[in-house]
Amino acid sequence: MNQQTIVTLDLEGVLVPEIWIAFAEKTGIEKLKLTTRDIPDYDELMAGRLAILAENSLKLADIQEVIGTLAPLEGARAFLDELRTITQVVILSDTFEEFAGPLMRQLAWPAILCHQLEISGEGRVVNYRLRQPDQKCCAVAAFRGLNYKVIAAGDSYNDTTMLGEADIGFLFRAPDGVKEEFPQFTSAEEYGELMSLIRGEMGA
Ligand SMILES: [Mg+2]
Repeated sequence: MNQQTIVTLDLEGVLVPEIWIAFAEKTGIEKLKLTTRDIPDYDELMAGRLAILAENSLKLADIQEVIGTLAPLEGARAFLDELRTITQVVILSDTFEEFAGPLMRQLAWPAILCHQLEISGEGRVVNYRLRQPDQKCCAVAAFRGLNYKVIAAGDSYNDTTMLGEADIGFLFRAPDGVKEEFPQFTSAEEYGELMSLIRGEMGA
């Protein structure tokens, strides 16, 4: 009998667009396009983002409304639906529950482990709370501790510790720099390709 499996998937860049970048495009607020590539210090980046939201009087409900107009990547829903018929799937993301909601709805509410925002009584985003540092890697380690074989896929630097901790890790639509730096992870560009790699690992 094969060992039971769990597939852990990154969210942004794998199933949905980069939320902050898409949000910046929808609202026309250019400064929200900055990412950890521009400002490596995450706290500084988030503080800047929260200040911009406040300056533009954007409350959580406004942000969720804009995020609700974003769609998952083409083919993502079908890929996820098929995957959920053959194994357990948990999305591991460094986004926030409150931002993920409108996109999770379009993906039929898969399980997601991520972080949380602190919302004031008036509905403004006042702070953010990381549940734990390096949570993707910690989650994979915990699933392995439950005797699951973990198959992980992600697209970026913040996924590489998760991919390394998993029994097998795949890069999906990763930038060339990431692929070059982490040649130990097989990389896929299309959902069909990733599905075949996962099925191969499951013997399914
Ligand atoms: Mg990503």
